[in-house]
Formats: sequence, C-alpha cells, structure tokens
Amino acid sequence: MSRGGIRPYLQRFPLGALILLLGCSRPAVIVIGGGPAGLAAAIEAAGDHRPVRLYEARAEVGGSASFGDAVTAIPSPDALRRLDAANGTSNAARTRFVTRVRADVVDWLGGMGQVWRPLPNDAEPDVELMTPAGRGQSIVGFLAQAAADAGVDVHVLTRVTGLKRDGDGITVTLQPGGTVRATAVVIATGGFAGNLERVRQRLDLDASIPLLRGATDFADGNGIDLGLAVGGVERLPGQVLLYAHGVPDPDHAGAALMFVDGDRALGIDSVGTLFDEVRTPRGDSGMSLLARPGGTGWVIINRRAEKEIQLWSADQRSFVPASEIGARGGRRGDDAMDLARRLGVPADALVAAVQAEGVRPTASRPLRQGPLTALPLRLTTAKSLTGLQIDLDGHLLDASGAIIPRLYAAGEAAGFAHPWEAAHVDSTMVSGAILTGRAAGEAIVRDFPDGR
Ligand SMILES: Cc1cc2nc3c(=O)[nH]c(=O)nc-3n(C[C@H](O)[C@H](O)[C@H](O)COP(=O)(O)OP(=O)(O)OC[C@H]3O[C@@H](n4cnc5c(N)ncnc54)[C@H](O)[C@@H]3O)c2cc1C
Repeated sequence: MSRGGIRPYLQRFPLGALILLLGCSRPAVIVIGGGPAGLAAAIEAAGDHRPVRLYEARAEVGGSASFGDAVTAIPSPDALRRLDAANGTSNAARTRFVTRVRADVVDWLGGMGQVWRPLPNDAEPDVELMTPAGRGQSIVGFLAQAAADAGVDVHVLTRVTGLKRDGDGITVTLQPGGTVRATAVVIATGGFAGNLERVRQRLDLDASIPLLRGATDFADGNGIDLGLAVGGVERLPGQVLLYAHGVPDPDHAGAALMFVDGDRALGIDSVGTLFDEVRTPRGDSGMSLLARPGGTGWVIINRRAEKEIQLWSADQRSFVPASEIGARGGRRGDDAMDLARRLGVPADALVAAVQAEGVRPTASRPLRQGPLTALPLRLTTAKSLTGLQIDLDGHLLDASGAIIPRLYAAGEAAGFAHPWEAAHVDSTMVSGAILTGRAAGEAIVRDFPDGR
C-alpha cells in the first residue's frame, strides 16, 4: 500500500484499520535475501497468513538465480548408489533431499506454470537434467508472484546489517531504516563465491594463484557473518566449487567471462597438458588446474569459433564475442606448432590434439583450420558448497549442535555440503535453495503456531 493511500483507507474502514495496525505492530517473520531460498521460505512462512517481511539488498529479488540457467539435476537411486560407492559413503539425508526435488521443486513450480525441458546428459544417463523454460529468471518470476499472492511484504534496496537475540525475539538492523523486531529470522543471503578474498582465505589459497570471480558480486558471505555473530557455525569452510572455464573479463577487473562452448575448443594448462573438457569440467578439474604450476591455462579456438563462441558474464547477463577477448588478452599462432611456441608449452600434445580434432566427425570441431587463438583460462569461483550449519528443518545450529532459537538459514548461505549434500550429487543448487527455503518456512509455521 502506498503511503499516500493509507489515510483514506483508515478513515473509511476503521475495523480494517485496526486489524492493519495490529498486524503492523506484531513482530513479523523476517527473511533476509530475495533469492530462490528466501522467496521459498517467505512463501511457506506466510502460508497461514502470518506477517512475513522479506528484505532484499538489491533493487530486485531473484538473487543469483536470475543470472543462471537454473539447470536442475534429479539423480536416480542408481546414481546415488554409484556416488556412495565411489565415495565410500551412505547418506540418508542426501537421499531424502534428492527424492524431494521432483515433487517439491519441479512439480511445485510446475503447478505455478513453470515449464521444464529435459536436457541430454550422456555423461551420466542415470542423472536426469532439466532446465526451466525461461531460465532462472522465470523461476524467480513465479516465486516472486507466489510471494506476492501469499502476502509477503517485500522491501528491496534494504540491507540487513545486524541481528541481536534477546528473550522473546530478534532485533534486526536495517540499512537504511533503523531496527525492527522479528519473531523469527531466516538468513537466505546466498553464498560467498563472489568474494575472492574470502574464497582465498577459506581455501588457504596462495595469493600467487590467479583466480577470477564467476559468481555474482553480491554473493559475498555477509549473511554467513550475520549468522556467525549470533552463535552459528560455518561447516566445512573450505568447500567452494572452482571451475576452469573463466577467461578474464576485459571490462570488469577480477571478474570472469565463462566459456560456454566446449565443442569448438581445446583446453590446456600452463605446461601444455590437455583438459578433457573445457566447458563444464566435472569433479576436481578446477582443483587439478590449481594443482599445476601457475594455476592457469589456455583455451584454444580458431577464427571460425571466435565468431561463433560467446563468453558469458556471471553478473552482467551479457555475452561477449570471443574475438573481443582474443584481441585484448589472447595469443595468436598460425598453427598449433606456432601457438605452442608463443605460449611456451611443449608442442607435441597440442599438435596431436589439434590434428585429432580435425578428424572428429562433427563439423563443429574445425580446429585444424588455423590460425589459432589462445584465451587465458583461469580458475573461476562458481558456488560455495558450505555455510551456516543447519538441521534438516533449517534451524541454525551452534557449535554444540543445539538449535539457536528463532534463527534459520537456507540456500547457499547454509551451504549444501551438509546435511543435504546435494552439490555432491551434481553442482546444481537452485533446487537445493528452494528445498532448504521451504523447509525453513515450514519449520517456522510449526515452531510458532500462534505466530509469536
Ligand atoms: C552465473 C551463475 C550460473 C548459475 N547456474 C546455475 C544452474 O544452472 N543451476 C543451479 O542449480 N544453480 C546455478 N547457479 C547457482 C544458483 O544460482 C545459486 O546457488 C542460488 O541462486 C542460491 O540461492 P540463494 O537464494 O541461496 O542465494 P542467492 O540467489 O545468491 O540470493 C541471495 C540474495 O540475498 C541478497 N542479500 C545478500 N545479503 C543481504 C543482506 N545482508 N540483506 C538483504 N539482502 C541480502 C542478495 O542480494 C541476493 O539477492 C548459478 C549461479 C551463477 C552465479
């Protein structure tokens, strides 16, 4: 309701006004962060008409999900068994998590109108991959609409900067806006992969290893600090997904442009060893790049690919032609031999790989047709897999494992390493954010049946 509109309403409907004023004076459930986790938590918490306020630091809700494809993985029981066999684990919590993805994310959003499309996954046929039509942006749209329908009071351009617990509630400090009281607070502020300093510190990463930011810059870990300040603990702080697919963004220092077409490219590290797959290295390939001298590499394309390939920026939502990067940061060679000489790497492996590309049946691998361009490839942060420790209902836990009353966390702020371990199955996280958000919202309804 706009400020100008409230006075006539109060005069015309005194009973409504009383209810409104009572509602306003009641402490609300406060959700910090308007990404998929925060929106899902707010929708559930508002389910039985309790006041729920969501504060979002940016000008619009959506969080990191607005910028990505929101590809979602649904592993089969076989895939989970395969994973456990490989890791020597058996994880009932993860199984429970994964088996809820279809009903509680795909079907739930489907009920709101979200159309899902299957994606091929030749590498792991027992993991079903789906992508939402309209990418992450459309998921965010459906969640924002559902939050509005549920009566969630959304405040954008408002940052939560402090939390203080006392006997019967939590005092939340806002910037701008002073303080407000809350019955319960959900920390859903995203991860910290956009904060290179924090990533380096948490991974104990040598300053000489070049690293680029592949996550949105607002994923800075500030909400994790809010949780730590009220007694929460950070679990497994060294878990961050690093990919080897970023090239430096010429327009934004420290940020990556992500390489998005592996079919037309070849990846080598700083000593000339080939990468299996440039586009989406699975498992530890980011770490293996890190383990090699210099922590850098090259992605090699030719002129035709330069015209076709675009590099995707994590937070500008823009696409940059590879030729622009090639012109600014790349090295060119007439052929593989010449390029290897210019890069200072042994030529044999590169020449052989380029020749092999030439005989592959797909016309889209024309690397034998030089000249070639090498784009500097760097370790790129993607997602932080860990954060504040929670239980399966989203309660924030302290160092002894006890529930910290009235505090909850969800999404990347709560990490996915434990207890859900979703990211260990596949590095897709929007579904994990929605599930943990819904779990926290449902728990609030159970924990505060009378809304206080
Ligand atoms: C480029 C890119 C591509 C991706 N692709 C995929 C993909 O294909 N599939 C997939 O599953 N995942 C993908 N991800 C990851 C996924 O988007 C995130 O894991 C997910 O959005 C996390 O959701 P969240 O709600 O926990 O946090 P976020 O989406 O990060 O939202 C957190 C929100 O909190 C706000 N906030 C932070 N601090 C405060 C504060 N103090 N006060 C108020 N508001 C605050 C932020 O502004 C932000 O809007 C991608 C991420 C990126 C960056």
